[in-house]
Amino acid sequence: MRERRREPAPAPQGPSPRDLPFGPVLVSAPVKRALDEMRYESPTPIQELVIEPLLNGEDVVGQAQTGTGKTAGFGIPIAEQVDAREPFVQALVLVPTRELARQVTDEVAEICRYRGTQVVPVYGGARIGPQITALHNGAQVVVGTPGRVIDLLDRGVLRLDRARMVVLDEADQMLDIGFLPDVRRILRSTPRSRQTALFTATIPTMIKRLIYSYLKEPQTFRVGAESEPVEQVTQRYCEVASRDKLTALLNVLDEEEQTLVFRRTQDDVDWLVRTLGRRRVKAAAIHGGLPQGERNAVMQQFRSGALKLLVSTNLTSRGIDVPTVENVINYDIPESVEEYVHRIGRTARMGREGTALTFVSEWDLDFFDAIKAHVGDDLQPLELGLYKRLEAGV
Ligand code: AMP
Repeated sequence: MRERRREPAPAPQGPSPRDLPFGPVLVSAPVKRALDEMRYESPTPIQELVIEPLLNGEDVVGQAQTGTGKTAGFGIPIAEQVDAREPFVQALVLVPTRELARQVTDEVAEICRYRGTQVVPVYGGARIGPQITALHNGAQVVVGTPGRVIDLLDRGVLRLDRARMVVLDEADQMLDIGFLPDVRRILRSTPRSRQTALFTATIPTMIKRLIYSYLKEPQTFRVGAESEPVEQVTQRYCEVASRDKLTALLNVLDEEEQTLVFRRTQDDVDWLVRTLGRRRVKAAAIHGGLPQGERNAVMQQFRSGALKLLVSTNLTSRGIDVPTVENVINYDIPESVEEYVHRIGRTARMGREGTALTFVSEWDLDFFDAIKAHVGDDLQPLELGLYKRLEAGV
C-alpha cells in the first residue's frame, strides 16, 4: 500500500499555471503535489503520449493494455482542466463495470485532491440517493457505468450540457457488454464542442465506427503490441483432468501469496469457494450475481491484502488493478486469446513479477491450442517437480 500524508482538501480552485515538471510533462503545483504523494515520479509511456494532447484540447484514442497507467493519463488532464469553483459536471468518464467505476474514481479523486474538485462515482446496484446528493452538491467529475448514467440523465439529476470532456475507458469491453446504444445516447447529451478521449485494448470495427462518429480528428497512440501478454508474467500450464482440478489447485496454492482464480460461471465460482471453505482454505467469491455491497466489500478486502484468495468470473478480468496480486490461476481455461491476456494481466502490474497458471483439461484442447499458438514459447508446462507434487498429492 502507498503511504500517504493526509491533509484536508483545500478550497476549490480554478486551473493554475502548469510550470512544474512531471518528467517531460508540465503540471500545476496542486497536481504535482498529489502525484508526489501518490509516488508517481515520472509519467508512464502512455501518460507521456496522451497527457499533452489532452491538455491541448485534442481528441485522443489510446490503445493500451491495462496496467499501463492510462487512468492517470486522462486523470491528470481532467485535474488540470476542470474548474473546481464551478458547481456543474465538466468531465464524464464512462467505464464498463462498477468495480472499475470505484477504482477510477479513487485515482482521479486523488489526483484532483489539492484542486478541491469533487469526483463522484455513479453505478447501479448502489443506493442512488447519495449519488444524487453528490450531483446536487455540484460535483464536477462523474465516473460511471452507462446504465446508471442514463438513469440519472432520465431523472433530470445529471446534466451533461456543459461537459467539456468525455472519456470512454475500456471502450471495447463497454461495447462487448452491449452498452453501445447507451454510450451513443450519453455522447449525444453532451455538447458537440466537447473533447473526447477513448481508451481501448483492441480496435474492432464497432470501435472504429464509434471513433469515426464521435471523435474529431483524434490523435491515436498505442502502447504495447495488441494482445501481447505482459512480459513479467511467468506463464505456465498444467494438464489436469477436470475431476482433479481441485486437488491440483490445493497443491499449487500458496496461502501467503495473493491469488486470483478464474472460473467460467457464477455457480462454479460459488461451488469452488464453498468447497475450499470446507477444506479450511479461506477464499471469497466475486461475480455479477452478488449484491453490489458484497462485491465492494470483497474487493476492498482483497485490495487491502486481508483477503489472499479471490475466485472470480471474468468480471474482474479487465482493468481491475490490485498491484499485490502475485498469481493468476485459470481454473477454467479462457475461451479466447483476448480473455487469456486480460486475465493474466491482473498480475505483474507496473513492473512487478507475477505468475499465471492455466489448467488444461480434457475438454480444453482447442482453446489451449489457440492460446499456445498466440503466446508461443512464453507458455511452458509446469516444471516436473510440481507435477510430482501434484501426483503425490492425489
Ligand atoms: P492503470 O493502467 O491506470 O490501471 O494503472 C496501473 C497502475 O499504475 C496503478 O496501480 C497506478 O497507481 C500505477 N501508476 C499509474 N501511473 C503511474 C506513474 N506515473 N508512476 C507510478 N505508478 C503509476
